[in-house]
Amino acid sequence: MQIKELLRPHINSLVPYSSARDDCAMEGGIHLDANESWYDYSAQGKNRYPDPHHRKARSAISSCLFLPFERTLLTNGSDEAIDLLIRAFCTPGSDSVLIESPTYGEYGIFAKINDVAVCDVLLDGELDLDVKGIKEMIRRKNPKIVFICSPNNPTGKSYDIAKIKEIADFNEAITVVDEAYSDFDPGFSSSASLIDENPRVVVLRTFSKYWGLAASRIGLVVADVEVIAALNKIKAPYNVSLSAQEDVLEALEKKDERKQVLEDILSERIRLSEQLEKLPFVKKVYKSDANFILIKTDDANGIQKLLLDNGIIIRNRSLEPLLSGCLRITIGSRAENDRLLEVLCNA
Ligand SMILES: *Cc1c(COP(=O)(O)O)cnc(C)c1O
Repeated sequence: MQIKELLRPHINSLVPYSSARDDCAMEGGIHLDANESWYDYSAQGKNRYPDPHHRKARSAISSCLFLPFERTLLTNGSDEAIDLLIRAFCTPGSDSVLIESPTYGEYGIFAKINDVAVCDVLLDGELDLDVKGIKEMIRRKNPKIVFICSPNNPTGKSYDIAKIKEIADFNEAITVVDEAYSDFDPGFSSSASLIDENPRVVVLRTFSKYWGLAASRIGLVVADVEVIAALNKIKAPYNVSLSAQEDVLEALEKKDERKQVLEDILSERIRLSEQLEKLPFVKKVYKSDANFILIKTDDANGIQKLLLDNGIIIRNRSLEPLLSGCLRITIGSRAENDRLLEVLCNA
């Protein structure tokens, strides 16, 4: 199916808000078009509305991350992108999305906020995609969006791109691959490479994890130009602030710093996994392709409480399907990880 046929019909005919900065993006000149303050208290141009198309940030992203400029869109965190995609493609009250639990909670929550049904195909015993089950569900329910999170939160597992491709090609609607943690998997192959052949594939990235800009709220959508055009129509014109756009430029300029921290996280991932495995109450340490580790314990609540009493906060995932007894621990600094292990060893 064409992107046009998949979009909600009224989105196709929607005429978007045209902002003052759309009409004239000229730098310099006398701007009396947007009712801004003429006085710049910040001396950094904060009195002016930012570029609604985020051109400088996107062009830096495009050259640094080798992505075609016209296939990119910045959002207020990838959470905004999830919401925009659901609003663009799913009609409330009749359409559905497909997820594979246990996974990131926001897909289901944004679907429910938009009155869109959620079909759930559990992961298999290896916490891998159940391709056969997913295909069956697609055949039965015709979801408008299939969400796939790889590496998956909270399991930490990257899925084989061949499986993702098989699902995306079988699915006549949109497949969204959330690659929030891909930078932590050295062998990762991005589903962005699938877009050429299958324009219904949409990839989400974020500056909140590897890039260290969670507070700035910057999500990145990589998609076919028709999908990007549709999302541009419905996003708020100034969805990414000037400071956030500038933070992207600065982060990309200092990308070598990130590589050093990545090396540290990857070696800590090995060390923490080995140490956690030795603890008597840890039944399993799952292999992680992300910057967190999932462990199965014999008393998730007790361990969580012990850590909390010692000022260490982790996520309890034990109520999710397939994850009884499971805790998710973010890989911190060496000192933070040492303290975690110290508390656990004395338990
Ligand atoms: C953390 C996370 C994100 C990032 O969300 P932002 O809104 O960009 O901060 C996206 N997807 C998954 C699976 C995550 O765990």
